[in-house]
Amino acid sequence: MSIYIKGIGVSKGIAIGEAFVLAREQLDATQTTLPQSELKTEIKRFQTALTLASKQLHDIKKKIAKNTADDIVVFIDTHLLMLEDPAFNEGTIANIKEHACNAEWALQMQGERLVQVFDEMEDPYLRTRKDDVLHVVKRIQKALVGNEETSENQSYKGKIIIADDLTPADTIMMQHQKVAGFITEYGGPLSHTAILARNLGIPAIVGLRHARQLIRHDETLIVDGLNGFTINSPDSKSLKYYRSVKRDESVKRNLLNSLSGQPTITLDKKQITLHGNIDRPADIKTIQKYDDTGVGLYRTEMLFIELNQWPDQDTHLKTYKRAVKKLNGKPLTIRTMDLGADKEIQDTIDHGPMAHNPAMGLRAIRRCLSEPQDFMPQLLAILRASAYGPVRILIPMLTNLEELDQVLALIEDAKNILKKKKITFDKSIPVGGMIEVPAAALAADAFAKKLDFLSIGTNDLIQYTLAIDRIDDEVNYLFDPLHPAVLKLIHMTIEAGRKAGIPVSMCGEMASDTQYTRLLLGMGLEYFSVQANALLEVKHIIIHSTLSNLQEGVERILLASDSGEIKNRVQQLVNLL
Ligand code: PEP
Ligand code: MG
Repeated sequence: MSIYIKGIGVSKGIAIGEAFVLAREQLDATQTTLPQSELKTEIKRFQTALTLASKQLHDIKKKIAKNTADDIVVFIDTHLLMLEDPAFNEGTIANIKEHACNAEWALQMQGERLVQVFDEMEDPYLRTRKDDVLHVVKRIQKALVGNEETSENQSYKGKIIIADDLTPADTIMMQHQKVAGFITEYGGPLSHTAILARNLGIPAIVGLRHARQLIRHDETLIVDGLNGFTINSPDSKSLKYYRSVKRDESVKRNLLNSLSGQPTITLDKKQITLHGNIDRPADIKTIQKYDDTGVGLYRTEMLFIELNQWPDQDTHLKTYKRAVKKLNGKPLTIRTMDLGADKEIQDTIDHGPMAHNPAMGLRAIRRCLSEPQDFMPQLLAILRASAYGPVRILIPMLTNLEELDQVLALIEDAKNILKKKKITFDKSIPVGGMIEVPAAALAADAFAKKLDFLSIGTNDLIQYTLAIDRIDDEVNYLFDPLHPAVLKLIHMTIEAGRKAGIPVSMCGEMASDTQYTRLLLGMGLEYFSVQANALLEVKHIIIHSTLSNLQEGVERILLASDSGEIKNRVQQLVNLL
């Protein structure tokens, strides 16, 4: 019998395939007491398993190193480091000796101890590292019983992955293995994992509670990543229907592909800028797969996360130069680091007790201004990268003008350092600010006077305006880009840019959603920075729109307070010929 289950669709597309249910790695060893005379052999057996586990990881690393995103390599390196860590091996050997027990049991005890240590950590990022501990324990346990099967040589090709949650590294690894789709029990549409899935073009559903109980391993599934539902064990009629939807999707995709390289101009000849968002230089390839265009948002924090520390100036520069070169003269908008909330690293700085509301805490530019000596290498590197092609600086999460003044002063300091050293850079490099805190939108006029451009970050702007945690699926029902308050703030920002004569872009997810393209055009938005896989769809709407036909409808939307009326009017814009 087919079953229909609903979650939150976060990455559109239809996937049809067999379910691959990822079990939480369980520690299921049993205790055996050994005579003292056998302990030495047991320790040797454990050490051999460690060597084998380490060899397996090195082999995987070699196998994937050539054509794989750096993330996967970092992911494997973390596990290798854990394998070599005395907390793992010496602790387990001590357990074998102390409890006169088998290696599996000693390892399980040690794993549980380490998991508990991570569990009790205040830092939310560090708490998530317990998953790495569990993975490493499982790998060694498999090696102890001579089972060489690992998740990395397990083939996920064409499968639909069902997991409780996925790290960005998991998501990337799965894309590398050509999975058909994925479903997680937790997470919201704006979690960075969901954003990554959209970027990678994998149909995905999150927040599908109890998915691992409701879906059987190997069961055939249809996943609708747009509407957020699955059909388990579909009947032949449903399969036939969704196969045809999938075919239609690919026909539509071919039509859209013909827009690649075409100018983005409305029917009444208004030139619109359409750029892509990236997390790392390698993502430029994905943008170029769709269109030969620039980058309106480069989220540099991924570099910090991958290194698990603040990078030095050379590492920043090497990375940004790579991006500039890949863009062949197209602009690169580098956003300074936005760590905090759901993007964290384990740095050595003592941040005191864990914040209760990290999204409202020492995040993004606030964190950079609190550590200016650590921020300076990034500013210097961005400036230096501007010698190789058009680069713009973008400052995230500005709240007040004092912060902006401090950043501008630091940028001046960085410029003076480079001038003194006779290092070239673009002296008039544009500096822009993200408008993603309601206070900044309300004060956009003042920000616009001091900046070269503004960029609206709707993911955070909606989170902070509506007081809903963007990664909490329990309040996801309140997430509403069409809330009149949100629309007013967006409109105020666009107007502020227009009055100051500076460009205003939108780089939040709202810009990638074609339901809103005409609304935004009618509000006067002239610059969209979107997910790579939305580039051609947004372009398709833009080039089939006439600005003068949108104005009246948009004015009515901005005056309306009833959400039903706003939705209907937005739909009318979508339906305009
Ligand atoms: C946003 O908030 O809309 C944005 C683009 O920034 P991020 O999603 O990285 O917080
Ligand atoms: Mg943001």
